[in-house]
Amino acid sequence: MKFLGVFCVFWGSVVSGFALDREAFTFTKYDLSVRVEPEQQRLGVRGRITLRNDSITPQKDIALQVSSTLSWRSIQIAGKTVQFVTHEYNSDIDHTGTLSEAIVTLPHDVPPQGTVELDIGYEGVIPLNVTRLTQIGVPEDKAKHTDWDQIGKSFTAVRGIGYVTWYPVATESASLSDGNSIEEAIGRWKKREQSAEMKVTLTNSGASSEPPPLLLCNGKGGPGLYEQMSRVYAVTTECGYSPLGNSVPLFVIGGYSALDRASANISYFPEHKAGAEDYALAADLVDPLVTEWFGTSKIKAEVVELADPEAAPFENGSMLLTPLVNTDATRYQLNAVHQLTHAAFVSPRLWIYEGLAHFTQTSELEQQDGRQAVLDFMGTHRAAIAAAEKDILAGHATNAAAAESLINTSVEEFYRSKAMYVWWMLRDMVGEPDLKKALAAYHADQDKEPAYVQHLIEAQIHRDLEWFFDDWVYRDRGLPDFRIESAYPRATVNGGYVVTVTVENVGEAGAAVPVRVRVADGEVVKRLEVRAKSKASVRIEALTAPLEVIVNDGSVPETDMSNNSYKIEMPDKQSK
Ligand SMILES: [Zn+2]
Repeated sequence: MKFLGVFCVFWGSVVSGFALDREAFTFTKYDLSVRVEPEQQRLGVRGRITLRNDSITPQKDIALQVSSTLSWRSIQIAGKTVQFVTHEYNSDIDHTGTLSEAIVTLPHDVPPQGTVELDIGYEGVIPLNVTRLTQIGVPEDKAKHTDWDQIGKSFTAVRGIGYVTWYPVATESASLSDGNSIEEAIGRWKKREQSAEMKVTLTNSGASSEPPPLLLCNGKGGPGLYEQMSRVYAVTTECGYSPLGNSVPLFVIGGYSALDRASANISYFPEHKAGAEDYALAADLVDPLVTEWFGTSKIKAEVVELADPEAAPFENGSMLLTPLVNTDATRYQLNAVHQLTHAAFVSPRLWIYEGLAHFTQTSELEQQDGRQAVLDFMGTHRAAIAAAEKDILAGHATNAAAAESLINTSVEEFYRSKAMYVWWMLRDMVGEPDLKKALAAYHADQDKEPAYVQHLIEAQIHRDLEWFFDDWVYRDRGLPDFRIESAYPRATVNGGYVVTVTVENVGEAGAAVPVRVRVADGEVVKRLEVRAKSKASVRIEALTAPLEVIVNDGSVPETDMSNNSYKIEMPDKQSK
């Protein structure tokens, strides 16, 4: 890299001379050979990547980014070294807050839809690094439990895009202090890479006469060769992602023991055997619920223990990286039901994939503690959704409704929490048996149109759900806001009462919301469909004098829950 210094000096003028489109190319194929040396915290990568120009103009320059603690060594086309310059590029998609970016100047333009193959080499170290978090004021001690990735002597865990850029990517700069820019940049990247193929041959090597620690990854493949020559070992694992889909390619190296159960495989540290057994028990307990909803799973959930007992858990597909020192059985069961749902039900759409996994958590909770416990649990998500809706209104000048709809969004509060509510509302609207039948008919490879799942549900209930999907899934219309406009009680001839309740929804999204009439010894509930910006009425019968009417039990997320109840003044003559 002796020319590096020179080029860096001129970088400012070079970069201003042309507009580099970092997101012009899709990386369609990776074939990487990755050597990890835990004792040195080192990573060395050689391989071939194939890129396709998905922009509408010919491209002469390509940006290749890896983590800033790694350095580019060589970039070639068909055996010939190509011209490239490297520099540091600030972006919080990497834990260091900076990328080591190579700008490759190609000998010829790549036309739109044209492809180019590059042979690449880069290497360096991956130590624990919390720079991007401490830069925005997160205390270091807290930050290291979030950005826990590192290659370390006794334990290695390295996640891909969004954490450690250990394989080359190309994204526009994003910052943690700039709203949702990280989620958006990663969302754009994942969308481009949905059908990309990745093959990684991982080798863990070092000097030790002990058996080397286990190397795990989240792709398809498995352990390959193990070589031991006196005190030097090398163990290889093949890891394939075909296609990449929503995967965040990751690898873990640790001295694991394994617990293989019917529903989950657990890799744990021998000293935490009790935690692993607790998790296995939780998985066994929730398995029937998941099977009831989604049938028997074809793949097993994978749990891999993280060495730091305070590490924030991380899930990708049906793999969960988590500490196993917890003793809270309910938490294990909620984690397990989420994970088992992922193993049993696959969808390329995040709002379906994650939304359903959060929804089955609520079903599990309902089985254990009843509907009110679920409403309390969902209530903890409501404020986050409302805040995200507000941010989006402020951040997007135009087109927020389309960009942040559940089918397009990369905002977690939406594809997780809001989607969980959507599934819960759908269950309330269509009933559990019909929703189960609709989901049983779901096939991920047939989900080509956003309305696919809507049509599956409609086929069961013979009712039009277009308005609901339009308000909640295809567009982001914010949340409803209900208020009771009036409630008129009338005594009936047989001694009971009929209350006519009119509900107004001043929000932009409609819903079928429960309306409750409270009486001295209980309540009567009816569901009322109140479309956006409109009013609707319902007649509810009660055996004794009605005291209060309340709209929304918390099962529909709304912006303002403080105006939802209405005291009924009973005229004396009517109450007799
Ligand atoms: Zn999940």
